[in-house]
Amino acid sequence: MAQKDRANTGTAVEPVKTDWSSGHLGTLRAAGAAPLSFLPGPVAIGSSVRAAFHAPPRSHRAPEFLLELAAARETLQQLVKARHCAVLLGSGTLANDVIAGQLSLRCGPGLILSNGEFGERLLRHAAGFNLTAQVLRCPWGDPFPARCVEEALDRSPGIRWVWGVSCETSTGMLNDTASWRDACRERGVTLCLDCISAIGCLPVDLSGVELASGVSGKGLGAYPGLSLVFHTRPAMPQPDRLPAYLDLGSWAVGGVPFTHSSNLVGALSAALARFGSDQPFGRLRGQAARLRRGLRTMGLRVLLPDEVSSPAVTTLVLPADVSSVEVGDALARAGFLISYRSEYLVSRNWIQVCLMSEISTAAIDSLLAALVRLV
Ligand SMILES: *Cc1c(COP(=O)(O)O)cnc(C)c1O
Repeated sequence: MAQKDRANTGTAVEPVKTDWSSGHLGTLRAAGAAPLSFLPGPVAIGSSVRAAFHAPPRSHRAPEFLLELAAARETLQQLVKARHCAVLLGSGTLANDVIAGQLSLRCGPGLILSNGEFGERLLRHAAGFNLTAQVLRCPWGDPFPARCVEEALDRSPGIRWVWGVSCETSTGMLNDTASWRDACRERGVTLCLDCISAIGCLPVDLSGVELASGVSGKGLGAYPGLSLVFHTRPAMPQPDRLPAYLDLGSWAVGGVPFTHSSNLVGALSAALARFGSDQPFGRLRGQAARLRRGLRTMGLRVLLPDEVSSPAVTTLVLPADVSSVEVGDALARAGFLISYRSEYLVSRNWIQVCLMSEISTAAIDSLLAALVRLV
């Protein structure tokens, strides 16, 4: 960096204009190589997952398809210790709308916890179903104070449900959902969680969580397109109270109320084979430590301390004289896809490196090498 050169040599140096055309990054990746994804989705897709997806589509009424879907639901339930799992056709946002729909069947107001973009979105999901809710907000990148949920519930004993985000993807914050669960359990309050970017990246335990959302295309390492709703109680169809597609009961009972996608379900089933043990989680933690060590060594500011951060999301706060969009564009041209285009990242000059799905350590090292040359 020009600034550093000046400080080191003590001589006057012409300001160096960074070369964003990034010809000097080109040598890091072989010509024609597929870009490396450090996005929260779409993620790198393994060859067995790709092969499963490309099988010819089967009818959603075919017995083999129904068996495959039932097995995938069972595996997902075991992975996160949930009693039921519905597999819907849609993105993660659908699962959160479905959860809002279930909450609309309950009486009583709720409490929504927000310390980032996805907490804010829960408020919009709630508004869409006219739910009454208080909101407990923290600045983006700040953890919620210990005991804040207990205190809020004790202040307002009428609150019947709490809804928050497990991994707040906009910052990488891993919220302390275990403390929320204990606070809710002691008071007989329903807890709902957005686990969309947590599942598949770290061990998730949904015991004591009544409703939770997940998705196929992030940590589970499959294609985007399947939306997951985990639930504790059996859900009955509510044809006179909820739109059919947003009714958990429609999906819960037989599992296949409408046209489903055997390609997406087959790919998800293949991706789930990676989760036979806790091994992928240990590997991911090690890779996150390596990535962050490298980033900090080159003087970059990582937004969150490791103790409160998901291993899968590393947010970098770039210096004011470096444009996050230009860094993201230059990396993309050099074959490294990082997360930088969301409005909430652009406005803060943040970029994110995500380690969802399977990424090789060599890929992480080559991204670090590219960043060294860039900033
Ligand atoms: C990605 C994400 C969503 C939205 O999921 P889509 O698949 O884009 O609809 C919601 N919540 C969190 C925490 C996420 O990371």
